[in-house]
Amino acid sequence: MDYDTYGSSAVELAIDLANAERDEGPGWAAAFLRAHDEWFDAGTPLDLAPADAEHAAATADLVRAVAVAGSQEEVIARLNDLLALASPQPYATDHDGELHLHYARADAPVLEQLTTTVAMGLSQVVVQHGWQRIGTCSAEGCDDVYVDTSRNASRRYCSNTCASRSTVAAYRARRKA
Ligand SMILES: [Zn+2]
Ligand SMILES: [Zn+2]
Repeated sequence: MDYDTYGSSAVELAIDLANAERDEGPGWAAAFLRAHDEWFDAGTPLDLAPADAEHAAATADLVRAVAVAGSQEEVIARLNDLLALASPQPYATDHDGELHLHYARADAPVLEQLTTTVAMGLSQVVVQHGWQRIGTCSAEGCDDVYVDTSRNASRRYCSNTCASRSTVAAYRARRKA
């Protein structure tokens, strides 16, 4: 994806969080953090207190609420709920060789880094490119959240898999008819 035109790659962390599988109980949050540790300052302890999984779930729910919102008014309300959880203290870094911004202070607890990065990344994309850019998959049986980075804002599916699955289903439905 081309993030030069999309302001913030941190929106990807927001999308991943919204789509994280939570059925297996509170351990999902720790597993999510481990799988996304490149987003947190090196050396940040990834351990969570039991209540932290609930906070991460609340953040995930707010990202999803922005994606399913049907009006700008609703998007603004949910986005502000999300931003109220953030503690931004941005700084510039080139720790990976490329100059970019981090949104949370480097020594913040991992949950604070997660919430802040997700809130700032999502908000940037929404205010710069419009709330319609965040949506949920149109494929049957899938409700994953996506960010639409297509030039003409034409995306409807979370992935190529869902897009081709839906194309095949539509073709079969036409043939039956
Ligand atoms: Zn970085
Ligand atoms: Zn999908």
